[in-house]
Amino acid sequence: MNFKVISPRTIKELLGVITSQQGAQFRFGAGYSDLLLELKKQPIEDLTVINLAYLTDTQINSIEVLGDGIKIGVQVTANTLTSDVNIRTQYPVLHEAASQLASRQIRQVATVGGNLCTASPAGDLGCALVALKAQCEILSAQGTIRTISLEDFFTGVRKTVLQSDELLYSVFVPSNDEGKEICSHFIKIGTRNAMEIAIVSLAYHFQLSDDKITSAGAAIGSVAPVIKFVGEACEFLKGKSFSNVSPKTASEFAAKVGSYASPISDIRASDWYRSEVLYNISKSIFEKSLE
Ligand SMILES: Cc1cc2nc3c(=O)[nH]c(=O)nc-3n(C[C@H](O)[C@H](O)[C@H](O)COP(=O)(O)OP(=O)(O)OC[C@H]3O[C@@H](n4cnc5c(N)ncnc54)[C@H](O)[C@@H]3O)c2cc1C
Repeated sequence: MNFKVISPRTIKELLGVITSQQGAQFRFGAGYSDLLLELKKQPIEDLTVINLAYLTDTQINSIEVLGDGIKIGVQVTANTLTSDVNIRTQYPVLHEAASQLASRQIRQVATVGGNLCTASPAGDLGCALVALKAQCEILSAQGTIRTISLEDFFTGVRKTVLQSDELLYSVFVPSNDEGKEICSHFIKIGTRNAMEIAIVSLAYHFQLSDDKITSAGAAIGSVAPVIKFVGEACEFLKGKSFSNVSPKTASEFAAKVGSYASPISDIRASDWYRSEVLYNISKSIFEKSLE
């Protein structure tokens, strides 16, 4: 495999490099855990890789706490997400998703930007961040930034809204409401515990006040061409008492979640299996209250 690598040190330099590469074959490289495999399978002649790994700008490499949420730079690794105390306490679903991504070695290099831009329906960080109603900032070669919801960022299997002169710059996750209790988890079903790409995943982030669900976010992975926010299922839960959800309500919620899925059969699982598992894990959220 033969390619040229350019490693800009600043965002300003990066924008110049992107502009100079318009019309040529180029790709961004972050942690390379997806890119190298992809290029091995489908080599590209005369490829230039714009390496993001040496960018020194803090915005792209850090997690910033703002008044109304947190901003995660795209070069932040899965490993950094797992060790961030704010994420562990305020957004447990993201902490759990990052902790379950691949292996310790891959988490050291796998970046948030790479995970989202690969746009795999099984992407763990994408699923958690869609449940958290994240927004993404997209930077163009001209230096302008546009913001869209992460849900709308994914347009198909391994497809995103990014234009050839754009890169994903940061992800914004809104704060939890003041004084709310949080119930937030990532459920990943695979055939083994480590190094496993999800067969089905469900991310949810609920905020509660006196046990009543005041805000709900949930997303499903590996059961449709893109990660899906299950909006109707979330609306259905609003105002319900979390610890007293009846079996009927839990089943209704699970059916609403399932209505967003269009699973396929592949080497790892059948469409039937995926649907059954999704239904059962959706119900299991309320297991304690159903005992
Ligand atoms: C053995 C193995 C196990 C894995 N297990 C899991 C798993 O359990 N869960 C999971 O979700 N993933 C898993 N993955 C996939 C992978 O590790 C992740 O998707 C990773 O987060 C990709 O990040 P990266 O920094 O390595 O991206 P790279 O490989 O560098 O890039 C991936 C893609 O994103 C593009 N890109 C990167 N950054 C940007 C940017 N800022 N703007 C625009 N485009 C950009 C690149 O051009 C490339 O197309 C696994 C991979 C391997 C090899």
